[in-house]
Amino acid sequence: MTHPAQPKASHFINGEYVEDTGGTPIPVIYAATGEQIATVYAATPAIVEQALSTSKAAQKEWAKMTGTERGRILRRAADIMRERNHELSVLETYDTGKPLQETLVADATSGADALEYFGGLAGSLTGEHIPMGEDWVYTKREALGLCVGIGAWNYPTQIACWKGAPALACGNSMVFKPSETTPLCALKVAEILHEAGAPAGIYNVIQGMGEVGGALVTDPRVDKVSLTGSVPTGKKVYAAAAEGMKHVTMELGGKSPLIIFDDADVDNAVGGAINGNFYSSGQVCSNGTRVFVQKGIKERFLACLAERTGNAVIGDPMDETTSFGPMVTENQMNIVLGYIEKGKEEGARLICGGERADMDGYYIQPTVFADVTDDMTIAREEIFGPVMSVLDFDTEEEVIARANDTEFGLSAGVFTNDFSRAHRVIDQLEAGSCFINSYNDAPVEAPFGGVKASGVGRENSKEAIKHFSQVKSVYVRMGDVEAAF
Ligand code: NAD
Repeated sequence: MTHPAQPKASHFINGEYVEDTGGTPIPVIYAATGEQIATVYAATPAIVEQALSTSKAAQKEWAKMTGTERGRILRRAADIMRERNHELSVLETYDTGKPLQETLVADATSGADALEYFGGLAGSLTGEHIPMGEDWVYTKREALGLCVGIGAWNYPTQIACWKGAPALACGNSMVFKPSETTPLCALKVAEILHEAGAPAGIYNVIQGMGEVGGALVTDPRVDKVSLTGSVPTGKKVYAAAAEGMKHVTMELGGKSPLIIFDDADVDNAVGGAINGNFYSSGQVCSNGTRVFVQKGIKERFLACLAERTGNAVIGDPMDETTSFGPMVTENQMNIVLGYIEKGKEEGARLICGGERADMDGYYIQPTVFADVTDDMTIAREEIFGPVMSVLDFDTEEEVIARANDTEFGLSAGVFTNDFSRAHRVIDQLEAGSCFINSYNDAPVEAPFGGVKASGVGRENSKEAIKHFSQVKSVYVRMGDVEAAF
């Protein structure tokens, strides 16, 4: 019998599901059991062509609609997503293995927020009038054209919407390629946009590995590429986009610092560290995985952290009491277990976890290492799993220098009750998305993105509009033209 997660077909192009079994089969594995629940097929060159040509053809008419009309469609899609939140959350759980307790509140809901927010902004995207004596200049905010979105596997619904909603609000069309690891949810986003009234071709979804992503990025018809992925992939995609002088947004990896001063509220700081390391089993790009704790509260912090981490409910992701699910794939589990071994070998002190959980599926216990030093592998490389490194520090100046000593710059957090210090420290941290006495809040109203190797451009907020549009300026002369001859 077909599993309920099996989509109608692999691709959604020009307003309908399309299949081409000539492409490489991509098995979809449910991370909680290891069973294969669906199969999709990578896009063949013919499918890539169909997706790009229909999206290109649809864009001009879409851009001619008023922003209010486009926005109404996006807001209708947001309403449909909210009405279907439960079934979309179950699908997200099948796609990723994340517990339903999370997906019910963080995925389709976050996607709907983006559709609603950018739907609301669409009617107010205007230019400027610049007086020049009796002449004047006016500016127009125009669509870029055909945009490509490429997703990572940790938030398949959210990523599809965070890219699609601002792109469509500005009058662009999009071809979206989800991660081959989590191909299911983006198809639902396309289906819902179409049901809400988006013209055929405005938001196409096709499947495939890096090769299909590469074919999209290098196509001369494509005007912009927005990638969520790792730094090595980001470098390749950025370079390929530069060849064609395309616009880019790069949402890449991180190794973010979370700094906890002696005067912080210990319970809140521990809560921030748990949210910033163990949500989605640690598979979150902005996680604060280097937790710098000032020496005065170190032992209190560790005791409280170990006790609360022990309360994680590890188990069946479909059970709403489960608060901690498996890693997305066996491969990702093995990568993370490798880092845990490195942590042990290099002399970090294991506080809790440190093993595969004793059950089917790709589960790893939430793991905390203390006495981690800056040079250890677990303090330098992005792990993308539930492994928290706790490092000690003495002074503000020292911790700022150490926090910034990384190629990454996605996020940073500070816990302290001294607000002057909180702002002073945040000002000096090299990161794009920062938190004071909190961690990992990502409302659609706030810009999201990194500096340094963690990326370029911003998602969400009014900033995303700038990255999915361009300004045309028009000089208007009222009098005669003066010329030298
Ligand atoms: P990945 O880099 O392996 O893959 C990302 C996407 O790029 C996939 O869809 C993949 O098929 C595609 N791809 C791979 N090679 C390509 C190529 N040459 N051309 C075009 N496309 C190509 O990343 P992943 O393992 O899926 O996700 C984990 C990474 O994503 C982590 O580093 C994480 O930090 C990052 N991430 C960042 C954010 C953010 O917003 N900053 C959010 C989530 C995940």
